[in-house]
Amino acid sequence: MTQTTRRRFLRISSLASLAGSSASPAFAAKEPSILQAGEPPLPAEDSFTIAVLPDTQTYCQRFPDGFHAQTQWLVEQKKRRRIEAVLHLGDITEHNTPSQWEVARAAMGRLDGELPYFFVPGNHDCGQNGKAADRSTLLNDYFPKSKYDKLPTFGGTYDKEPDSMCNSYHLFTAGGRKFLVIALEFGPRADVVRWANEVAAKHANREAILITHAYTYLGNVRYDWQKFGEKQSWNPHSKSYPMAKNNGDDVMDGEELWQNLVSRHENFILTLNGHVLREGLARLTSTTPGGRDVHQMLVNFQMKPNGGDSWLRLMEFTAQGTVEVHDYSPTQDCSNLGAQNRFTLKLSRPGN
Ligand SMILES: [Zn+2]
Repeated sequence: MTQTTRRRFLRISSLASLAGSSASPAFAAKEPSILQAGEPPLPAEDSFTIAVLPDTQTYCQRFPDGFHAQTQWLVEQKKRRRIEAVLHLGDITEHNTPSQWEVARAAMGRLDGELPYFFVPGNHDCGQNGKAADRSTLLNDYFPKSKYDKLPTFGGTYDKEPDSMCNSYHLFTAGGRKFLVIALEFGPRADVVRWANEVAAKHANREAILITHAYTYLGNVRYDWQKFGEKQSWNPHSKSYPMAKNNGDDVMDGEELWQNLVSRHENFILTLNGHVLREGLARLTSTTPGGRDVHQMLVNFQMKPNGGDSWLRLMEFTAQGTVEVHDYSPTQDCSNLGAQNRFTLKLSRPGN
């Protein structure tokens, strides 16, 4: 990012910040699990489901069966739960190595021809041995654009790197509603965010969902380097990720994405990210200048046994404009009714 570009973004940021942001969680930062045997209830007849797969890196490293169990279950459930899309939140692999990408390709490949799926690279998918020294990745060798660009859901890729799936967008209709999913790299660069703004503006009539690997942090707040620095672990600006130092700090964290992208459009409804360890769960709701609520959630199960015990998140979109969130493990056949795992979100309509 040039200094000029950065200044322009900062100026936009200060304007956007006037809109303010309200987080009013009626739940504690860390909520206990409340486990219950069995699957979540089936969606209402006029509802549909978007499924979420957070960090699968430990499955690719050591527990491939757990990854296969997730995608196999989603395929089996696609009709009865009317699953319309699957979102992978990055850190697909642990070390960005061919053997781990092969596991990912095989497990995600179960969805091919069955369910549309969209994905982003995490920090562990970048650089030699997944150390995020730079943005080099084997992702495009195993999930090439040529495999996806003929699909009806495919929208496009970052205009400066059109052959890469590291930044992409997707379009689909479900329940009579039109959706846009923007899928951005770990700590997106300023020019990637410029492109994402153009995509969001072009599809202003669609309910927009942002997926990127690092955005919301523990304690129901966004990553905010300016405010918290290294006090928030694993910020994309952190010295933990040489990529930032090596590219002139051209990365954006959650707060920068809120200011420079999400809050600037009246069609985002949701953001989702993984990445964060410990309890790996958080959520907050912020208000746009137009008075619309945008729900932002962190979900990451990788700290559970066996790489995550196949836990995944199901988001049931109802005809009443709500999202019913359920977390479920197909290998444990267990649901979690904790306040960070089972909750309802009221969506704002685009443009309101
Ligand atoms: Zn990560």
